[in-house]
Amino acid sequence: MTTQILRAKLKENFGFEKFRPNQEEIINCILSGKDTLAIMPTGGGKSICFQLPALVFPGITIVISPLIALMKDQVDSLKANGIDACFINSSQSSEEQQFHIQNLKDNKVKLVYVAPESLSFLENAFSQITVSLIAIDEAHCISAWGHDFRPAYTNLGYLKNRFPSTPILALTATADKATRTDISEQLNLKSPKIFISSFDRKNLSLEVRPALDRVKQIIDFIKNKPNESGIVYCLSRKTTEELTEKLQKTGVKAKAYHAGLDSKIRSKTQDEFISDECQVVCATIAFGMGIDKSNVRWVIHYNLPKNIEGYYQEIGRAGRDGLPSETVLFESYGDMIQLQKFASEGLNAEVQLAKLERMKQYADALSCRRKILLSYFGELVSENCGNCDICKNPPAFFDGTIIAQKALSAVARLQESEALPVIVDFLRGSKNASIYDKGYQNLKTYGVGADISWYDWNQYLIQLINLGYCEIAFHQQNKIKLTPFAKKVLFDGEKVKLTTVQKINKEKAETKTV
Ligand code: ADP
Ligand code: ZN
Repeated sequence: MTTQILRAKLKENFGFEKFRPNQEEIINCILSGKDTLAIMPTGGGKSICFQLPALVFPGITIVISPLIALMKDQVDSLKANGIDACFINSSQSSEEQQFHIQNLKDNKVKLVYVAPESLSFLENAFSQITVSLIAIDEAHCISAWGHDFRPAYTNLGYLKNRFPSTPILALTATADKATRTDISEQLNLKSPKIFISSFDRKNLSLEVRPALDRVKQIIDFIKNKPNESGIVYCLSRKTTEELTEKLQKTGVKAKAYHAGLDSKIRSKTQDEFISDECQVVCATIAFGMGIDKSNVRWVIHYNLPKNIEGYYQEIGRAGRDGLPSETVLFESYGDMIQLQKFASEGLNAEVQLAKLERMKQYADALSCRRKILLSYFGELVSENCGNCDICKNPPAFFDGTIIAQKALSAVARLQESEALPVIVDFLRGSKNASIYDKGYQNLKTYGVGADISWYDWNQYLIQLINLGYCEIAFHQQNKIKLTPFAKKVLFDGEKVKLTTVQKINKEKAETKTV
């Protein structure tokens, strides 16, 4: 459809003057009947991407959402805009459910929101309704590789078989490359078009601190901002409660939030936080999905997060109004050990451990943190951000162009099919089996870096990953791949600045934790 017509619909039905980035492109893609995967940060405006097409299509749009608590609000706001919508979930009586299903059959509704567990209620109506679009919100929940896996999502793959000619729109605010591939495969999307909005949130400052006496650091931090609300993310329920108590003792209006608390208490805390009665929520990652509060001024990670996807999602809850907001991550060796244990005992241990390792590399990094985050999601930027602790206090750099050229050409010679340790062995001219079994000793570049220690090569490669020249393919045995940026170094003479390797020994800074 033309921009003019779509804009008119946007204005008429939702009251907005123009589209946000990617909204129009996504809408056109769906209207042309293609499967679509939309990756857009929270607050980016995902809903319009299926709500507007729902008005254009003749049939019904099914919206799958895990957030039962939010369905009512969403449906109410659609109705307020004069759009017929309903939701079906387990909170309703069977009469209510039947009432809505009848409305669907009578084509009285344009959109129906349904929880994945409740899709079966619709099953017998399916044969009598025209489904024009299926939107799957929070689509990362289908991937056990992501950070918020929900078993109820795993069955959604059948929708494509059930409605082969109906376009599916999968939406999420958080998915790295591995998770994207997984979403698309599990939903059986047919060569989906993928839209990735910019994830850059310039208003969020980024900082990593050693977890030395972190309770005191947090108390001091909050004391400096008496009227600003924020979230402290903790790994365990126990820590949320203990920290809350300590903050309350110093007079801070703090509340704990985790999945083990009664749902009434949880929603009360949520309401108080939104209405600014409660200043600080000490929470597990159970807190936040779907919480719409624009003036969260800071987010602290008391513990190291499990992976960058989760971390980025959580800091993204700060500063949705676009005003400057702070984020602080406390890094502790003890956390790393504990998280490694969890990851190795859980599902997909290998992938989870690799993602955790990447998280640690971020925390230890000596280059612009925003660059690392953005390149993790496939967004390559050449400028440093100026709003992270590394940019504000940069370490000493040296010209690492030759090192970078050697490393990247090694990755290329090995056909991007080896993980980091083999690349280092190759560069150093090692004679071990991982090299000789594959005849790598006969390739060019073999042994060109024998003068640099194993440890240093390892660190340089991590710096190159952090700078966005190469990346780790988590879903392919952690093989190192080149990014389009690598070409600039290999062929276009781009200079690379590296930092001298220093044994980062944050363990020393570690003291007993709460
Ligand atoms: P997401 O689901 O990506 O977190 P929403 O769809 O809830 O985001 O949209 C976030 C906010 O932005 C909502 O208040 C919505 O009304 C608003 N919004 C969405 N699209 C536009 C637009 N084109 N112009 C202005 N505001 C918009
Ligand atoms: Zn920076």
